[in-house]
Amino acid sequence: MQKADELVYAPLGGVGEIGMNLSVYGYGRERKKAWIAVDLGVSFGGGEDLPGVDLVMPDIRFLLEERKNLLGLILTHGHEDHFGAIIDLWPRLKLPIYATPFTAALFEAKREAEPGAPEIPVTVVPVGGRIKLGPFDVEFVSMSHSFPESNALIITTPLGKVLHTGDWKLDPTPVVGPPTDEARLRRLGEEGCLALVGDSTNSVREGRSPSETEVGKTLAKLIAESPQRVAITTFASHVARLRSIAEAARACGREVVVVGRAMERVVQVARETGHLDGVPDFRSAQTYGYLPRDKVVALCTGSQGEPRAALARIASDSHPEIGLAKGDRVIFSSRTIPGNEKAVNKIVNGLIAQGVEVLTERNHLVHVSGHPRRDELAELYGWVKPQILIPVHGEPLHLAEHAALARKLGVPNVVGCRNGDLVRIAPGAPGIVDEVPQGRLYKDGNLIIEAEARTVADRRRLGFVGVVAVALAIDETGLLVSEPEVTLIGVPDHDGRGRSFADQAAATAVETVEHLPRARRRDPDSVAEAVRRAVRGGIAASWGKKPLCLVHVLTV
Ligand SMILES: [Zn+2]
Ligand SMILES: [Zn+2]
Repeated sequence: MQKADELVYAPLGGVGEIGMNLSVYGYGRERKKAWIAVDLGVSFGGGEDLPGVDLVMPDIRFLLEERKNLLGLILTHGHEDHFGAIIDLWPRLKLPIYATPFTAALFEAKREAEPGAPEIPVTVVPVGGRIKLGPFDVEFVSMSHSFPESNALIITTPLGKVLHTGDWKLDPTPVVGPPTDEARLRRLGEEGCLALVGDSTNSVREGRSPSETEVGKTLAKLIAESPQRVAITTFASHVARLRSIAEAARACGREVVVVGRAMERVVQVARETGHLDGVPDFRSAQTYGYLPRDKVVALCTGSQGEPRAALARIASDSHPEIGLAKGDRVIFSSRTIPGNEKAVNKIVNGLIAQGVEVLTERNHLVHVSGHPRRDELAELYGWVKPQILIPVHGEPLHLAEHAALARKLGVPNVVGCRNGDLVRIAPGAPGIVDEVPQGRLYKDGNLIIEAEARTVADRRRLGFVGVVAVALAIDETGLLVSEPEVTLIGVPDHDGRGRSFADQAAATAVETVEHLPRARRRDPDSVAEAVRRAVRGGIAASWGKKPLCLVHVLTV
């Protein structure tokens, strides 16, 4: 019997976590499917859990396996959790990329700024445009978000339509970019929406998120009432926020100075794509020192405490052009992403120590999220009336709350899944039918390494215990020809009774070799292993911690 075509979905990143979004949709018969991928993002920072790791990315093994049947990568928008892994991973995939104008231009600017980045062609799709990729017809639908052009995708197949929401909220007055395209989404509801794959980020929050326009009003008031300099930090790609700040500054006769490369890049792209039309030119950081204190607003990168970004350098008084002083005001027009609290607090404390006033979203409406709260989710589901809901873009709590809300709203099928689950959307009852390879990759310096590799786990252990290295030289009969050499790294010099660990390790090594049976003594590997165990055990007995122990045996 000929098997029927089916429509399937699999998340390869971003489900059960915030960040590194990557999804695939497949259509066709078993093992003969055509695929499209949506988004290819990163998660930030290893931090203490992953020492030395700059970025975490989804493993693309599945995309490589299906490369011949993979028709393209479609970007919903240009936030790093949706497009940050492309520069590193595209060279292995070399697949066509589709994006709307701002995302495409921002990607190109970012790529140009990266030394050695390859040419990566991106096909620009107009806002509201559509593309045809094999059995998939993909239509871009404008959604408001904390990014100038965010798109949901209506993916039409012979078995039905899927709405992939991307990141969205409902904001009738988003400052920059079109509001969520309610008319198109209502029409989708009339046409029939088989499945909705949707943003869960704020599904635990009641009500609706305030409009970007409200934030603009608060910022205008806080700038107007400041007696001295104002510095504001926000997410570099938040063009609506940059625009609100620029308009507020102009209303009280202040010049805007942009500080930080990522933000300069966004500003340039936003100007080229018309998102800052009507906003006077910004000034460069070099002009800052010449502007009167009550005539300037500095727009800075570094809202997440990034140590090399503008704000961290300003807070530690080490920025070449920008300084703040007692009486100046800093506004964090941002939310601290979980994991970054320590770094942000360090900056806040540095600023307060300089006598600078610091305002945050805790006390003022200076930031709103770009993701839908519960009433917004309910409203969208009322328009679209999906038969199936698949919650994505969230941690397990967000996904579970989103699923429960959808059930309460009467969505007939809710399919909870995790990275690597293959969900059959149609035909028949929807559900998880298989697994596909998934995992994580780490950006480690200039290299991409697999999360399963020992490298980072070893590094983390080293951070707790250190290393004892022992070098021995034996002759062919297995007799030591000299004193062992011992090196300690990250291990205390002496035990609690003042005895040198290096001397103890050397003595243990000598004793161990001398007590080995003659036959084993002639085998360098066997000597090394015996010495390693003995030295490690000896140090652990008095230190209370087991160091890593490396033994090199030379035969002379
Ligand atoms: Zn986003
Ligand atoms: Zn996102």
